[in-house]
Amino acid sequence: MLPDFRVRQRDYLLEITRAITAQLDLDEVLRVVLTASLAMLAGEVGLIALREPDRRFRARATIGVEPDKFALFDPLLENLTDETDAGLNLTELDLKMRLVARKLDIRLRQVVALPMMIRREILGVIFVFRTYAGQASANDQVILQSFADQAAIAVVNARLYQTVSEERGRLAAILDHSADGVMILAPDQRITRFNRALGRFTGWTPAETIGRMHDTVIVWDRIDQGQSLGAALRTGWGRDRQLNPLYVEGDIVRPDGSRISLGITYAPLINEEGHLINIIANVRDITHWRRAQEAKNTFISVISHELKTPVALIKGYASTLRREDADWDRQTLNNGLKIIEEETDRLSELIDNLLAASKLQAEGMRLAHIEAVDLTQLAARSVERFRTQTKKHTLIVDFPPDFPEIQGDEARLRQVIDNLINNAIKYSPSGGKIRLSGSIEPTSVSLSISDQGVGIPRDEQDHIFDPFYRVEDSLSRQTQGTGLGLYLSKAVIEAHGGSITVESQPNKGSTFRITLPR
Ligand code: ADP
Repeated sequence: MLPDFRVRQRDYLLEITRAITAQLDLDEVLRVVLTASLAMLAGEVGLIALREPDRRFRARATIGVEPDKFALFDPLLENLTDETDAGLNLTELDLKMRLVARKLDIRLRQVVALPMMIRREILGVIFVFRTYAGQASANDQVILQSFADQAAIAVVNARLYQTVSEERGRLAAILDHSADGVMILAPDQRITRFNRALGRFTGWTPAETIGRMHDTVIVWDRIDQGQSLGAALRTGWGRDRQLNPLYVEGDIVRPDGSRISLGITYAPLINEEGHLINIIANVRDITHWRRAQEAKNTFISVISHELKTPVALIKGYASTLRREDADWDRQTLNNGLKIIEEETDRLSELIDNLLAASKLQAEGMRLAHIEAVDLTQLAARSVERFRTQTKKHTLIVDFPPDFPEIQGDEARLRQVIDNLINNAIKYSPSGGKIRLSGSIEPTSVSLSISDQGVGIPRDEQDHIFDPFYRVEDSLSRQTQGTGLGLYLSKAVIEAHGGSITVESQPNKGSTFRITLPR
């Protein structure tokens, strides 16, 4: 042992203690321990082996040898497992060391092995190799062992820290990749965590929200259920041990001014003493659910209206015609029966449409048989049928002579054309021209149906293809309709690989354009 060892021993012990508190990176701890060990024992080469979970020892840090020579030290680490708990067999280690030294081609004379112990268990061994043989006094050995024990504490701390950080990282990743929005609030409602899904819902980047007050990020435009977190906290929520979650549902305003429907469940996290330490919020985007709910409501109101009118008419005419005290002439009788027949047709058409729509939602649009379809002829025939039904409108068919045939489901395409002509008539109550024109493009053909009717406001144009959607105005209230025609038409055209679009100006008219592949 070097003469000034005792003077320096305190410094080294201090250095290790500092490594324990300052360094939490395992590799760095091992490096500091090994450097100090080599300096204390005036060694040339050093190695630290740690016991792995499988209880075998593996080289984790070296000084004086390249990491690719680690494997050469393996003989030293073999059989260490059983012997070590009872103390290291130094004579055997010395023998092995000589073998290793020969392989490494370095002149090593002695190995000092310091077991790193925690609660009588060996956690690892510090090996110091020297070029000369020297004896350590009993006192030196005590000091060296206490140094090795300090090192063991540092290693355990670093390992614990590693486990904790890995666990933390894993939890953060789970939180971040969760499809639900998650945020964690401090008791004063400041945001301490905000995951990516919530960023997508709210339009905030998670980093922007950290440290902000909850109310400045979750800005309710409308609350449909429950009360805001601020209001709940003011009335005592989260103060008692009752772990009742708070549920709030409604629309929030995002930074760009748009709205989104959210359902948020806040759960208070309360410690042993009954103090609120965190609020954990789970956030769901309920826009789709809301839309489905609205569609259901519209469906019910549309259906009840559409069913009630014809049924009332049928019932009214039937009971009038049946009156025993009246003797109806042929003309009146016919008129009444005609209305009953028409209304029955309307009812059966409505039922067909409903069935088609529910089938479409369940299994998508299915085309029956695909055959060559002559759209020019199809359009001309439909126009003929509708001409007899209106005197106010002028129906024009305008197709180029060489308009090609396309492959399609003729019955379905006829339904689409009929629906579009029917709409053109319904939504131009003052009459005007209705023109069906065809045009040919290199890979597709188009069919346009234009009218001079009420038109469709810009912001409604995106919605008219949605199921049950009808533009809310006085005309639609007076005209029969379920809002299913365009929805079904679009599905038919898309099943053909085509598209349907609308161009319209209120009070000028509308043009629906179908494009189909050739
Ligand atoms: P319905 O006619 O049964 O209401 P559609 O799906 O065919 O259902 O049309 C949806 C809505 O689009 C209509 O209620 C109407 O408000 C609007 N619309 C459709 N075609 C026209 C048109 N040619 N001109 C003006 N509005 C139209």
